[in-house]
Amino acid sequence: MTPRVNRRTKIVATIGPASESEDMIARLIVAGVNVFRLNFSHGSSAQHALVARRIRKQAALAGRYVGILADLQGPKIRISTFRDGSVKLANGDRFRLDLALAEGEGDATCVGIDYQELTRSVFHGDTLLLDDGRLRLRVDEVLDNAVDCTVVVGGILGSRKGINRLGGGLAAPALTPKDIADIDSLAEVRPDFVAVSFVSTAHDIFQTRDLLLAHQLTPAIIAKIERAEVVADDDTLNGIIDASFGIMVARGDLGVEVGDAELIGLQKTLISRARKMDRVVITATQMMESMINSAMPTRAEVFDVANAVLDGTDAVMLSAETAVGNYPVEVVAAMADAALGAERHPVARTSRYRLDKQFGSAQEAIAMSAIYAANHYRAVRGIACLTESGSTPLQMSRLSSGLPIFALSQRSETLQRLCLCRGVVPLFFDASVFDRETVEASAIEFLCDEGQLQKDDAVLLTKGSVMGRPGSTNIMKILSVP
Ligand code: PGA
Ligand code: MN
Repeated sequence: MTPRVNRRTKIVATIGPASESEDMIARLIVAGVNVFRLNFSHGSSAQHALVARRIRKQAALAGRYVGILADLQGPKIRISTFRDGSVKLANGDRFRLDLALAEGEGDATCVGIDYQELTRSVFHGDTLLLDDGRLRLRVDEVLDNAVDCTVVVGGILGSRKGINRLGGGLAAPALTPKDIADIDSLAEVRPDFVAVSFVSTAHDIFQTRDLLLAHQLTPAIIAKIERAEVVADDDTLNGIIDASFGIMVARGDLGVEVGDAELIGLQKTLISRARKMDRVVITATQMMESMINSAMPTRAEVFDVANAVLDGTDAVMLSAETAVGNYPVEVVAAMADAALGAERHPVARTSRYRLDKQFGSAQEAIAMSAIYAANHYRAVRGIACLTESGSTPLQMSRLSSGLPIFALSQRSETLQRLCLCRGVVPLFFDASVFDRETVEASAIEFLCDEGQLQKDDAVLLTKGSVMGRPGSTNIMKILSVP
């Protein structure tokens, strides 16, 4: 029997019309989705709650742990609507953004926009980007109630498309009244993760956490890094990462604000910074964009996914590809393949073990030592963590390794949260039904039954001397399968 290969990199798939049916959710789980994203920029909260119930049901039927991420819309600044739904803008055309123009009144010369700070935030000569950067405008003149521009890169412009300023600076407070109402509705969704869009400071994260707590909700919070100002200031960025469970490299908006050339290095910096700070990181947007309409990715897309894996990302994300694309199942399979290919390279499997660092707790010392031992002792086939809160496997997964980290817990919240962590295989195992003498042998037997271990394999096991208490891991053993 060939040993089972566990893909280490996690896949986040956005739900939309193309993927929200029971049947599609079931097929996407089989294809390899680890976390589903509910995008609160679209759809009603009742619809999201319905889809969340479907996801929980299908995950249970498949016998898999799957996470749910609720992604709040945030203060994305958008143009208003056109009389005919969209307009065609040619290079050199004059185009006005008009604060006074009513909804539905836009045409090929002007469109409304509901962002009163616009005329104070843009200046002559600025570049404005529409629809994720597909169209570009140059600002010619800022008037009292409007901004006159020239089209630099034209194309079709639809109603309600997003607008960004090159270099950043179009900003509103992160949590809008809609976001706050959506948070109120999350008691029905019970997500494992909540993503906050256009985060500007750690305060946005604290505020979200407080609002969630008011509903007795304690999901892990993901800060979407998508504003030029945030990546330009180290203290702000570090504060945001520190305040969050993880970050998203939100390449759609960030790329538009800083330019793609700048984004290449930023992706690497953000991924390594998050992992060094014991935080999780998702790399998002346009990873396999061509698969919206094509059954196969381009080689460039395969390499983009692979590159994010080699950069050390925990997860790669699909947006329109699974939300509205024609090949949702195929794109998940293609992404899984690309990730597995990249994970075979030594760069993805070795670590520097934080050799120059002091560990902050017994748990961290155990987690780091376990990865070191596992990576250096050939007989070891995996690391089994008996865990309550999931913090030991989370810490282990901050270092690169080729070995699976089996997170064994009876807590579904813990196991669903670990769905986002690279290299962690979340498995239901209730250690409390065994006594101290038999629990280790039972865990090993369980992993053999799961097809994860076989005869004569060695496994590294970590646990706390007092079981059932979060954060108490202080024991590491090397055991062999009898
Ligand atoms: P969005 O966020 O898909 O909600 O815009 C991701 C991004 O900006 O990349
Ligand atoms: Mn975005």
